[in-house]
Amino acid sequence: MELLHTDTLEEAREKLWKETREMDMKTRKVKAQETPGRISASDVVSDENIPPFDRSVVDGYAVRARETYGAGEASPVFFRVTGQVRIEEAAGTLSGCQEAVRLQTGSMIPDGADAVVMSEYTEEYAPGRIACIRAVSEGENIIRAGEDVRRGECIIRRGQKIGVGEAGMLAGLGIREIQVYLRPSVAILSTGDELAGGDEPLTAGRIRDINTSALSAAALEYGMEICLSRRVRDEEREIRQAVEEAAEKSDIVLISGGSSKGDKDFTKRVLEEITGNVFTHGIAVRPGKPTILAYDRERRAVIAGLPGHPMAAVIMFRLLIRDWYRRKTGSPEPLKIPAVMKENVSSNQGRATCLPVRLVPGADGYEAVPVYAKSGSISALAKADAFIMIPRNREGLRKGEKVKAELL
Ligand code: AMP
Ligand code: MG
Repeated sequence: MELLHTDTLEEAREKLWKETREMDMKTRKVKAQETPGRISASDVVSDENIPPFDRSVVDGYAVRARETYGAGEASPVFFRVTGQVRIEEAAGTLSGCQEAVRLQTGSMIPDGADAVVMSEYTEEYAPGRIACIRAVSEGENIIRAGEDVRRGECIIRRGQKIGVGEAGMLAGLGIREIQVYLRPSVAILSTGDELAGGDEPLTAGRIRDINTSALSAAALEYGMEICLSRRVRDEEREIRQAVEEAAEKSDIVLISGGSSKGDKDFTKRVLEEITGNVFTHGIAVRPGKPTILAYDRERRAVIAGLPGHPMAAVIMFRLLIRDWYRRKTGSPEPLKIPAVMKENVSSNQGRATCLPVRLVPGADGYEAVPVYAKSGSISALAKADAFIMIPRNREGLRKGEKVKAELL
């Protein structure tokens, strides 16, 4: 039995990485407004400063800090107000002694001034004359040019997802377009004579097709694009045709079902015939052992033969293909949340276990509550917040043990 030889998850990932080395992720320039949710395909360097000049962060008066020393309620220091800088204006210069210039929040700081006294600590006791009742130190209430973002600084790294902060920086720096990765196109083929669509009657022996929708939802969540999805009967010829078409049209082909060694399991044979390049069949992960990986060099498509069991299919898609795409785009590993096990769990030694968990607030951070489920379950995925990988050299986890949970 070929399935007796299994790769570890790490081995399978490494093979997938090596076999697809020549496959470059396509990139495209897009307008800054269209980048949220996309992954930057290059480092982005600012060629402006934020802010572009020294600005006041309060309403008040620009002064020389040393001229305010000693100021207090009982010992005010007096200034002549020689002008004002409106928010959109260029500031002039502070020249004489004990001079102040009125500023708004965001106004440019005049040359010669090095601090701003808030209006609250001043009183205009005569036209053009103020009393200052609080000393300021040098730089107080000023945001310096480039203090937020410096010219020449790398503001977005390759592989960084464009979110709120990134979109704001692009706007703040006047960067109108950047290079992002195109969403990889995914084809989903769900095999099984027993599968019925939502609009078909559920006659005895048939079940509804979960994988087409669950895998689509996962692909969309991972920033991929669905270019084709359909159910295919357990007919070798039909599967071959479907896979060929899918590989032609997409970057990633997901075939669920038929990945083991049963009578109706054709995925392995079909992938051998089409690609001549099946490099993994069987991965030491639970759930998800009967998983096949192939690379179609001619059509430049990664092909994953996923288990039919819905939870196993979704988990293997995530552990293998999403991880591969993350690495291809230079994106960081997903954040993991530290938690403590709420109860003991057992696992099979020799196979890594992917355990769905709920995260509940505990006395000291989160507690991980296992969501027990067979690999055919789908409800477990909806109930869980995250998953934990139990290493293959362990027989389980103890209550109270520290773990790291990856959000689903
Ligand atoms: P297979 O890998 O084809 O042997 O399928 C394993 C189990 O998963 C069987 O019980 C199938 O009925 C079930 N299964 C396969 N494909 C799907 C699907 N698309 N939706 C729901 N269950 C499925
Ligand atoms: Mg099947």
